[in-house]
Amino acid sequence: MSTKLRILVPVKRVIDSAVRPRVNKAQTGVETQGVKFSMNPFCDIALEEALRLRENNKASSLVESIHAVSAGPSKAQEVLRAALAKGADESTLIDTGSTDVEPLGVAKMLKKIIDEQKSNLVILGKQAIDNDSNQTGQILAGLLNWPQATNASKVEVDEQAGKVTVTREIDGGVETVAAPLPMIITTDLRLNEPRYASLPNIMKAKKKPLKVVKPDDLGADIASRLEILKVSEPPVRQAGEIVESTDELISRLKKAGAV
Ligand code: AMP
Repeated sequence: MSTKLRILVPVKRVIDSAVRPRVNKAQTGVETQGVKFSMNPFCDIALEEALRLRENNKASSLVESIHAVSAGPSKAQEVLRAALAKGADESTLIDTGSTDVEPLGVAKMLKKIIDEQKSNLVILGKQAIDNDSNQTGQILAGLLNWPQATNASKVEVDEQAGKVTVTREIDGGVETVAAPLPMIITTDLRLNEPRYASLPNIMKAKKKPLKVVKPDDLGADIASRLEILKVSEPPVRQAGEIVESTDELISRLKKAGAV
């Protein structure tokens, strides 16, 4: 019996990766006023992998659906439209207003969407570049009691066996793991290079489904467990000095007590 994939791709709206983050005046987070936002780069890679699974297995129609979901302010609709323009079929915005939901809360809401969508493969980014939590996929796997493969650099699906093989980047090498569906995968940087959406597809995406729900509709407890006490910039790096020779370098290092 062959298994078709119903893929869920959670995509987070974050400060654009090209923007240099600055700490806000209240020192509670990163300044978001007047800053460009985009889809989190690792989520873009997750979406690309879902699209490639569909394209590379067209003959067998391996991928039945690709659903993008984002939890965030109503402006997160923009990243969902971007996902739809790239090739996702449908999307859901979980409108959390100005509340920044922690990974546990996000995972609980994703679990509800997974139940509703009957997803059997969830591909997430390994981390969101705004909070660098690197937790949501792992917590979600725990809540669902599904196998997980984090930091994927290669994904292969055996349709007949309903099994997924994932190559993971680990310190000093790679690890290959396999698990039966349903499962959770988080993506590493080298998994693929995301595509750009074409103008006709951007236009077509405006008509694709984008459902808006509230956290309360999902009945998930998203209360924060953590209090952010302070966010601060790293210390400013001191300017270096150019020395004339290796001997001078060594004597200066000795004087400074560094060797
Ligand atoms: P994190 O655990 O916050 O570093 O995020 C890891 C991944 O979880 C992201 O790359 C997304 O795929 C997913 N994720 C986290 N927060 C959200 C969110 N608010 N909306 C949608 N997906 C999210």
